[in-house]
Amino acid sequence: MSNAKELREKLMMKERKGAATYSPETLKEADEFAAGYKKFLDSSRTEREAVAYVKKLAEENGFVEFEPDKKYNPGDRVYIVNRGKAIGLAVIGKNGTDNGVRLAIAHIDSPRIDLKPNPLYQDGGLALLKSHYYGGIKKYQWTTIPLALHGRVVRLDGSTVDICLGENDDEECFLITDLLPHLDRDQATKTMSKAFTGEDLNILIGSYPLDDSDEKDLIALNVMKILNDRYGITEDDFLSAELNFCPAYKTRDIGFDRSMIGGYGHDDKCCAYPSAIAAIDTKLPESTCITYLTDKEETGSDGNTGMQSDFLRYFIYDLAKADGNEGYRVLSRSKCLSADVNAAFDPTYASAYETKNCSYVNEGVVISKYTGHGGKYDTSDASAEFMGEIRAMLEKNGVKWQIGELGKVDIGGGGTIAKYVANMNVDVVDLGVAVLNMHAPMEVISKPDLLMAYKAFYGLFN
Ligand code: MN
Ligand code: MN
Repeated sequence: MSNAKELREKLMMKERKGAATYSPETLKEADEFAAGYKKFLDSSRTEREAVAYVKKLAEENGFVEFEPDKKYNPGDRVYIVNRGKAIGLAVIGKNGTDNGVRLAIAHIDSPRIDLKPNPLYQDGGLALLKSHYYGGIKKYQWTTIPLALHGRVVRLDGSTVDICLGENDDEECFLITDLLPHLDRDQATKTMSKAFTGEDLNILIGSYPLDDSDEKDLIALNVMKILNDRYGITEDDFLSAELNFCPAYKTRDIGFDRSMIGGYGHDDKCCAYPSAIAAIDTKLPESTCITYLTDKEETGSDGNTGMQSDFLRYFIYDLAKADGNEGYRVLSRSKCLSADVNAAFDPTYASAYETKNCSYVNEGVVISKYTGHGGKYDTSDASAEFMGEIRAMLEKNGVKWQIGELGKVDIGGGGTIAKYVANMNVDVVDLGVAVLNMHAPMEVISKPDLLMAYKAFYGLFN
């Protein structure tokens, strides 16, 4: 071996080899893990549905609802639900909260099309619904694709009705129309933000009138009658509802080699699922482990179900109190993986990425030391010490990982919940899965990367 070759191997970073570094057994394991994930993703379009799915899975695996003033023993398994939209799973450790807790936090809300409070109208012989989009979307991607309706309506008498319609092939679905290319010369000259506006995202829901009478808006009335027959709701009930339109795409394998997964809501359910399974697979950790799946990340983590709420803090304080510890001291000794996706390098749009520091499909789980924008604004920027600790933990557990900045400096940016966790005086770094076309109705991840995320969370807990 030449001196340079020898020194290169000793001193320089290894070259990227993608999935070639995985054994056939690991690839098989990745495929099996992905099967469970695909089921979860197809049943968890919204945060409410994700909470219901994880709660059921947890109960099947011995988790019981947390009671604040109860004494728990090492190995006990509890869950806590925040308003049906966020859920925490905890496994009590041998040392309880004495050395802090180990946290994996992911979000279970994804970009989508919400309804306005007063959505129903009729125009041009069609019934439509006015919408207000949720999270960062490229609006053109959400036109002319099948949409399914998910959500909850609260009637005046306080009773509720949950709706999930359009996911099955034999059910009706909905869509947002777009202008045909023959007539789009005006539209084609506009910039993307002007060519597709928020007020254009109207959802097509019907075209038959109730009857041939002279009453007005008979098509909208007919739709309302169908909704009333089926769900017992009136137009006023839209005022106390959360109705979300999500892509009605089934999660699918992508590529001839079936190495990748295409689906709606990988951001951030491809981190939520492996972190939940890691908690479920953890039996008797040293320190108490918590997987927390939060809501509202896509709109800034505000509100009582978002990561800026004190809900998780109160839960940790309750666990601390049961151990005779001060809550703030437990937080100060805690460590967290803020589990969120990163942008995978896309060769078609290579100019947006800085190739030495971006993440790649099949290079393993992505660590982002910092997120934010501009001169590192709006980020917690993990310390060298904590990066070193997590790096050693991943190596010890045989987890393939890579570093990932979101894109070129100053080209854009984005935040995660890491900074809100850091503000509680917890050591935290972002770790997650690389995603192609993030926030599109169908996003893409790789199967081994998903498995590596699971192994990372499991490694943190154990
Ligand atoms: Mn995210
Ligand atoms: Mn996102």
